[in-house]
Amino acid sequence: MRIVLLGAPGSGKGTQAARMVEALGLPHISTGVLLRAAVAANSPLGQAAKAVMDRGELVSDDIMLGLIGERLSESDVARGFILDGYPRNLAQAAALDEVLKRLKQPVEIALQIDVNEEEVVQRIAGRAAAEGRSDDTEEVVRNRMRVYAEQTAPVADYYAEKGLLTRIHGQGSVDEVFQRIMFALQSGFASKSGSD
Ligand code: AMP
Repeated sequence: MRIVLLGAPGSGKGTQAARMVEALGLPHISTGVLLRAAVAANSPLGQAAKAVMDRGELVSDDIMLGLIGERLSESDVARGFILDGYPRNLAQAAALDEVLKRLKQPVEIALQIDVNEEEVVQRIAGRAAAEGRSDDTEEVVRNRMRVYAEQTAPVADYYAEKGLLTRIHGQGSVDEVFQRIMFALQSGFASKSGSD
């Protein structure tokens, strides 16, 4: 399965991705995780990305394409993947399609986890305390939400137009949301193999 996971900051995307990885045994490709590792290693890429991330803005498409292109060329990707945090705008969505077309591994399903804003703010406040992330202050969170609404939300429409989008109701417990995801994956892939 080649899955793109979409959702606002604090939608539970990362938590659900971890559960999916456990259940499905697919590689988890999180651009946030890759970037934070680069920052921690103080690599040139990490140095370029840190200030942008700390403001809650998007790291440049060029840098991101290099990062994701490299990761997607690793051999484990042949088993499928769960892509988390990429694409974040329409240009990245188009670039991803190109890379995956070359690899003959196109996206099969995009799952969008929908939550309301109040719930998101509460979750992020909890995560900031638990993980001490430097991009989880209130002002930065507000900026990340704005960037999401302006640049990332249209990515869902991009996949909807291709007939690849499934929306997941994201309120409720981690288990409840996870069950909805697994159900959506089963139905999505069952209907596909039925029509082949
Ligand atoms: P995340 O953990 O996915 O919320 O990502 C944390 C931060 O890393 C974001 O707020 C962005 O600054 C940066 N980032 C992650 N993925 C991308 C991406 N696909 N494009 C640009 N910036 C990204």
